[in-house]
Amino acid sequence: MRWNWIFALLSLSLALGAHAQPVVSDLRVGQHGKNTRFVLNLSQKVDIEVFTLADPYRIVLDFPEVAWQLDSTQASAGLVKGFRFGLFRPGRSRMVIDLGGPGAIMNKFLLPPEGTRGYRLVLDIAPTDRSKYLASAGWPEAQAAEDVSQEPEIAAAPKAATAKRVVVIDAGHGGVDPGATGVDGTFEKDLVLSVATTLRDTLERTGKYTVVMTRDSDIFLSLKARVAVARRAKADLFVSLHADSAPGSASVRGASVYTLSETASDREAEALAKSENQSDVIAGVDLSKEGDIVTSILIDLAQRETKNNSAKFAQMLVPELHRAGEVTQKSHRFAGFRVLKAPDVPSVLIELGYLSNRLDESVMNTNRWRKRMADSIARAIDTYFRQNKGDHKADANP
Ligand SMILES: [Zn+2]
Repeated sequence: MRWNWIFALLSLSLALGAHAQPVVSDLRVGQHGKNTRFVLNLSQKVDIEVFTLADPYRIVLDFPEVAWQLDSTQASAGLVKGFRFGLFRPGRSRMVIDLGGPGAIMNKFLLPPEGTRGYRLVLDIAPTDRSKYLASAGWPEAQAAEDVSQEPEIAAAPKAATAKRVVVIDAGHGGVDPGATGVDGTFEKDLVLSVATTLRDTLERTGKYTVVMTRDSDIFLSLKARVAVARRAKADLFVSLHADSAPGSASVRGASVYTLSETASDREAEALAKSENQSDVIAGVDLSKEGDIVTSILIDLAQRETKNNSAKFAQMLVPELHRAGEVTQKSHRFAGFRVLKAPDVPSVLIELGYLSNRLDESVMNTNRWRKRMADSIARAIDTYFRQNKGDHKADANP
């Protein structure tokens, strides 16, 4: 009888264990002759989809939602130059492995548990040439069919005449795309999410705004999906939050504001837009299906007014950011940021500071600074709407 009980409890705990979230706990990369071996430890057997993408060369591993318990976020050897991981969408986790050149996956297998070690996924990668790589690279059929731009449904009722202003706050990056990494290890995605939630709370307290967040958790969102959130919410203003990194010049610090322009105001602005636009590439999104939103002449016309308003708001932001802390010399600049391309929503992108600057990074990690920054942005938003009353039907009175 007693043994039966013990047996029942044992099977119960085994059954429960099997339902716990799988854990990815360790990762090793090593070079063996010309080949590179990549090993990932897993707490249980899971289905993993593996595929390769070109430009840049990378291997994508798709898991069911897993918990990441990796000690290190850096490992490289042979063809493997680095990796990123995180939530790609609810129920799906992703790891992206950067390759230094075209690499063919020669072996892919799951080793069963052995001693204290759990399951291990092993990939053997061998150098190949570009044409052979391209022949086998691409999205798996099932994924090519689904819309990877993932436009989340958000509750946004059509605006009534007396509605509050709608402000969309966009915390850059997230999930599998960490954004820039600070000298002391701060991830841009975490920093900007924290400022975004502080700003949301600050705006909501005024009672004047309906605030919509593009993301409020550590999840990946394509640039197109962010723009779609703003359009669907019929936003009056779109504010995208980022933190820059200039690895070559550790002394550069301070905040800057960016608005959309097809021609960049300077080389740094152009380079920055290029790196922020890489977000989808980094997370492994099929850009061939993204399409450019700005296509027709009509949109172009609507955008002229939008651009004026974006620039107006940017000019109100700069002095406020200055009150909150450091700003860069050319504090309002222009470049072709894909996330600012909603044709009918005035949009700005704020680079809050430089994660490559030790002082900026430590300041940005304090609650005091985050609160002051949120207050400053909120003040600029107040000023903007006070001076742009005519643009909104809610303000019938002069
Ligand atoms: Zn960024």
